[in-house]
Amino acid sequence: MELEDINTVAVLGAGNMGHGIAEVAAIAGYDVNMRDIKDEFVQNGYEQIEWSLGKLAENDQITESDAEEALDRVTPLVDLEETVADADVVIEAVPEKMEIKRDTWTDVEEYAPDHAVFTTNTSSLSITELSEFTDRPEAFCGMHFFNPPIRMDLVEVISGEHTEDATLDVIEALAEDFGKTPVRVRKDVPGFVVNRILVPLMNEAAWLVEDDVATIEEVDATTKFDIGMPMGSFELADYVGIDVGYHVLDYMNEVAGERYEPCPLMEVKVENEEFGQKSGKGFYDYEDGDGADVSMDDDLFNETVKERLLAVLANEVAFLVGDGVASPEEIDTAVKLGGRWPKGPAKFADEYGVAALSEALQDAYEETGHPRYEPFDYLATAAEEGGFYDDADEGDGTPDFDTIELTYPGDKVAQIELSRPQQMNSISLELIEELDAAIDVVDDDDSARALLLTGAGSKAFSAGADFMSIAGGGADPFDAVELSKYGQETFGRLEELEMPVVAAIDGYCLGGGMELATCADVRIASSRSEFGQPEFNLGLLPGWGGTQRLQRIVGMGRAKEIIFTAERFPAEEMADFGFVNEVVEPDEFESAAHDYAAKLAGGPPLAMRFTKRAMQKGWDNHEAGLEVESMGFGHVVNSEDVHEGINAFFGDDEPEFEGK
Ligand code: NAD
Repeated sequence: MELEDINTVAVLGAGNMGHGIAEVAAIAGYDVNMRDIKDEFVQNGYEQIEWSLGKLAENDQITESDAEEALDRVTPLVDLEETVADADVVIEAVPEKMEIKRDTWTDVEEYAPDHAVFTTNTSSLSITELSEFTDRPEAFCGMHFFNPPIRMDLVEVISGEHTEDATLDVIEALAEDFGKTPVRVRKDVPGFVVNRILVPLMNEAAWLVEDDVATIEEVDATTKFDIGMPMGSFELADYVGIDVGYHVLDYMNEVAGERYEPCPLMEVKVENEEFGQKSGKGFYDYEDGDGADVSMDDDLFNETVKERLLAVLANEVAFLVGDGVASPEEIDTAVKLGGRWPKGPAKFADEYGVAALSEALQDAYEETGHPRYEPFDYLATAAEEGGFYDDADEGDGTPDFDTIELTYPGDKVAQIELSRPQQMNSISLELIEELDAAIDVVDDDDSARALLLTGAGSKAFSAGADFMSIAGGGADPFDAVELSKYGQETFGRLEELEMPVVAAIDGYCLGGGMELATCADVRIASSRSEFGQPEFNLGLLPGWGGTQRLQRIVGMGRAKEIIFTAERFPAEEMADFGFVNEVVEPDEFESAAHDYAAKLAGGPPLAMRFTKRAMQKGWDNHEAGLEVESMGFGHVVNSEDVHEGINAFFGDDEPEFEGK
């Protein structure tokens, strides 16, 4: 089956996950049959979808009519036969109990059409075992969404033992069409990828306290502020639910070995029903205490804690890579999106040094004899090879970037990808600095004849400036002028590069992101992309070249329309305006973008260089315009209107601007 053949999606279960998945599918344009076992349960799920769509419309994330149409596409049902009879894909999100899932799949097999592909949203059960309850295990795979599906970008697409590649391909395409980022999990291993990393991390933290190596306070301070993860390990356990972590461990302990023995500290919490945030108390007290108030005090940092936590993570990465479950890049993408980590565990391990972590693990194993420290085979290989990533860039002077990726996909094309997918690739000061450095590298590289500029994930090319880090908190007007100039100059370097620059846009291309794309020579966009300069909504003005450069491409009238209305414009309309050179369907987007860049890379470099230079020079009085623009940006950045705009944005209100 191909993506085009999918029209109707059946979602089984209208609970936490089921209603969210149904909503995502309906927004993406699919007819959704959502089923639960009682009318009141399915109605409840339906009402939650209605509420959530209303919120999205209120926040201008979708239009009112899109919200209404999406709701119209959802049919709440109790009758199973009616639910699956015309389904092309079935997504099962019933409770995490093998017997319930077995009964469900046995019934579904009876009523679903032969061509339908079956998927399960299970977090921990075996995909292979579930697939064997049906007569089509080859057309069965995991489709693991994260909570809440409407906001979490990741979908793990998991192969069972019998799953055919074609099944994984079509479900990945479907996940992408849902606006998500699929990561393929090539083997049905307990915990898949994200839980395989997060859950042993929580367990190791608990063991370190259990074994008197450190206190909870020390472990969390080290995790959050020394290692740099978004939460302390215990804070994470409280957030996820200690019971959830415990049950996954218990299951892994049973099927994947004693190294996953749940720490007694977690067991006690589960017995006392102290599950974490949701029950008011876990490792921290959320009712009578301050909740997870992790200390930043560096006296609490503990090197053994850091080393052992990272060593356990590195060992899990080694298992996943060594067993062919996923590559370091895929693991990092999954954990960044699913756990909201700033970088993935393979990257964390590489930066610390896999050899040092491998040694630390060995020492801990000798000291404690506990199987959780037993190294997986591939860890030694990764240590010998100098890390999980075979950094083509290591040693050749290419800087290591955090917010962008610089790669060479072939055909004389260099690619810079904005790589903050969990922040919709929003542009921070660090990103501009790294972009600046990456342009230096590309500029000096004689083998690169074209530059392709993309955004990671399938939500956004870039949703704009990371304005909280930029304009929030009483920014200094002088700094704002500098910042505006720095962005103008850095983005402008794309116009000055001697090679052609292709911006490939899939998803939101807004504000600063659109100003960046404006500096490319050519723009290619997927049909689902949306463009706009929303600065006026915040009382701001485009400060990274937008007042000058956009009009060169679309003409002054359209530029004014785009900036003054602050509205969003679909890709087709932007193509009519001349901003987008080519619109392609989302499933052709990636290859079309590469083909375009490769085509331009094959052009004459000298002619290209002089043509770009001449066109650039011919643009009159550009400098003066940029000067006015940055002064203006500095002028408004601390105005009451900007405060009003930002407050309204976060309070979901309409701003009232007074010109002050
Ligand atoms: P939930 O309890 O909120 O919802 C399950 C729903 O399924 C309930 O409304 C229940 O009445 C209904 N149900 C029971 N039997 C059914 C049947 N035969 N047909 C249709 N509906 C039936 O649970 P949940 O949190 O939505 O979890 C569902 C699945 O998603 C589980 O497999 C879970 O492991 C997985 N999951 C959960 C999360 C999470 O964070 N909650 C994240 C990822 C995956």
